[in-house]
Amino acid sequence: MIRSVTVYCSSSNRAPDAYFNEAEALGRGLAERKIGMVFGGGHVGLMGCAADAVMRCGGQVRGVIPRFLEEREVAHYGLTELRVVETMHERKMLLTGWADAFVILPGGFGTLDEFLEILTWKHLGHHQKPIILLNTDGFWDQLLQFFERIATEKMVGESYRSFYDVCNSAEETLALIDKHNASV
Ligand code: AMP
Repeated sequence: MIRSVTVYCSSSNRAPDAYFNEAEALGRGLAERKIGMVFGGGHVGLMGCAADAVMRCGGQVRGVIPRFLEEREVAHYGLTELRVVETMHERKMLLTGWADAFVILPGGFGTLDEFLEILTWKHLGHHQKPIILLNTDGFWDQLLQFFERIATEKMVGESYRSFYDVCNSAEETLALIDKHNASV
């Protein structure tokens, strides 16, 4: 059962509007379903936007931010819970541990790192949690093409495709979460 979704996404305030709209729609949809959101705890970028939407719609948000980023990412003090930790590793352990599923929106190096980590851990059998790539405007297409090359050149088995789902919108993402929940 998916009761808590960890959302990984950009901390940039300058991302395209379409990405903000989808972050907002995802946040709203999670709150409507009474599914909690877990995220990196910042008030900036798509992460802040999704968290604000959940809170505005009466949902629950837990954030985890390392002390050194508390100022830089403008820690979000309007959450249900904000955990301030000492290291990025502690942050990641809580973000992954508290998740029943992961949704990855467009983002930069931090988002990529977080996505690849949970993908690798799934590949290694450390978890079986659903991973959903929210592919707004085909943002992830080139990365997915690169994955194809890795598989063609036999550096990962073809089964890697079953480790994640790709959705084109927040609506599709929420429908997939509903489907998971209906099947358990
Ligand atoms: P970005 O996608 O780069 O905007 O970053 C999104 C989130 O990932 C932010 O909360 C960053 O603090 C975090 N982040 C940035 N770099 C890393 C990294 N190397 N490992 C894990 N998280 C990171």
